[in-house]
Amino acid sequence: MTHGLDQAWAGRRIGYAEPMDMLRLYIDGGYVDSDSGQTFHTVNPATEAIITEVQQASDADVDRAVDSARRGFAEWSAMTGAERGRILNGAARLLRERNEELARLEVLDTGKPIAEAITVDVLSGADCVEYYAGMAATLKGDHYDLGGDFAYTRREPLGVTGGIGAWNYPIQIACWKSAPALACGNAMVFKPAELTPLTAARLAEVYTEAGVPDGVFNVVQGDARTGQAMVAHPGIAKISLTGEVGTGKKVMAAAAATLKHVTLELGGKSPLIVFEDADIDNAVSAALLANFYTQGEVCSNGTRVFVHESIHADFIGRLAARAEKMTIGDPLDPATDVGALISEGHFQKVLGYIDMARDAGARLVCGGGRPPGIDRGWFVEPTVFDQCTDDMRFVTEEIFGPVMAVLTFDSEDEVVARANDTVYGLAAGVFTNDLARGHRVAAALDAGVVWINTYNLTPIEIPFGGYKQSGIGRENSHAAIEHYTQLKSVYVASGDVDAPY
Ligand code: NDP
Repeated sequence: MTHGLDQAWAGRRIGYAEPMDMLRLYIDGGYVDSDSGQTFHTVNPATEAIITEVQQASDADVDRAVDSARRGFAEWSAMTGAERGRILNGAARLLRERNEELARLEVLDTGKPIAEAITVDVLSGADCVEYYAGMAATLKGDHYDLGGDFAYTRREPLGVTGGIGAWNYPIQIACWKSAPALACGNAMVFKPAELTPLTAARLAEVYTEAGVPDGVFNVVQGDARTGQAMVAHPGIAKISLTGEVGTGKKVMAAAAATLKHVTLELGGKSPLIVFEDADIDNAVSAALLANFYTQGEVCSNGTRVFVHESIHADFIGRLAARAEKMTIGDPLDPATDVGALISEGHFQKVLGYIDMARDAGARLVCGGGRPPGIDRGWFVEPTVFDQCTDDMRFVTEEIFGPVMAVLTFDSEDEVVARANDTVYGLAAGVFTNDLARGHRVAAALDAGVVWINTYNLTPIEIPFGGYKQSGIGRENSHAAIEHYTQLKSVYVASGDVDAPY
């Protein structure tokens, strides 16, 4: 099935550097055919129409990408950090210039609202590339005075790295992984999610156009098999994955065979805690953003909203009034607040959790299914359940859709214990006007990121990543540099070797 809108974006008009009815692999600085002979389609979740056909990489294609990355690495890592930084700054500029075009591609592929994609997705990727461009020239080791002898450390790149992305923020994830990797002098083979292949290829074009040498950033398209081939590949030194906890466990186990470094950005079921002294409207704004932005397909979402018993009725009233006014529909319409979920399978999964919540006895406040009048595309209304309990399955498991669970609490100790009672630990939010309590609770929460009186802000300057089963390692900030480099100690003697024999 095709649709006019999508056909208008197909082929040359989709904006790729070459005419294409089919998206190919990007290896060694240009598009190449896969040798697998297999293809898959990428589909617009809002219309269910095919956008374009995509070539599936084989294991031999992954080998080819790694070989090309090895050659690219030799050239790239020999440059100075300042040279790499200048080139990456050019790439950031190109991303900004192409914001609108890339944002529209992202909307077609993901179903997210254009109002979000055009203000966040591409520009936050550009911020990231720019940030690490600036950092490239600052990488340095230490000096150790050892009497007459001395030693120094060199912060060296790992070599060929692998990035594997999820489908909710395709270009941002590709930038979060590639920018620090490249700034440190590594090369990368990147696999976007099978459901969202479009923009990673465009990022590869941008890098090439900015002057990144051929082979330094390669894109292999494909499904889990492609990811597995990368994780197993002896020529790849590190894998950075964004995905589900289950995938993270498989990747970590498989990476053990070649003792790869891993960074894992995984799922969550984060708490958002609203104390009795909080600004209620501000907390409601955050709860809406923390559950319905990108249709709820955000790893760090605050999906367990704990509200103090004394303000609960007021909070629910204000929340429902605003949730019901949200605009659901065509993601390319700038007035749309909530777009389509990524796929039919995911749509059915989210509806399954909504049924589960009803069956468990939670009270449906608003939403609850496909919006009336929209019979095509994978749309689900912003949905709020009240009177939830900690043990309900939809309260404990990551849904990754627009479904909020509201719970009540009486005391600070109680809510901290309940908030921490999960295998996840990605993020948390605390709403209070009591400064001391804000910091005390932030310290007590088992989460990689805690926001006080806001939610889901992830500027590139601050580390991002999970506690417990939400992940290993950190992206963004200076922390990512540690994950894309290794330290070499060099000992320099000032005299002869003092051999006792
Ligand atoms: P998946 O775990 O299903 O997939 C993530 C990527 O891994 C995809 O590219 C996928 O390929 C690939 N993959 C799947 N299995 C393997 C394997 N065995 N070996 C190697 N690669 C594999 O996640 P989703 O794409 O469904 O994304 C949603 C999940 O991502 C949610 O749990 C969400 O919380 C998490 N996420 C975490 C973020 C964070 O920063 N902490 C940010 C965004 C999302 P394929 O193309 O076949 O899907």
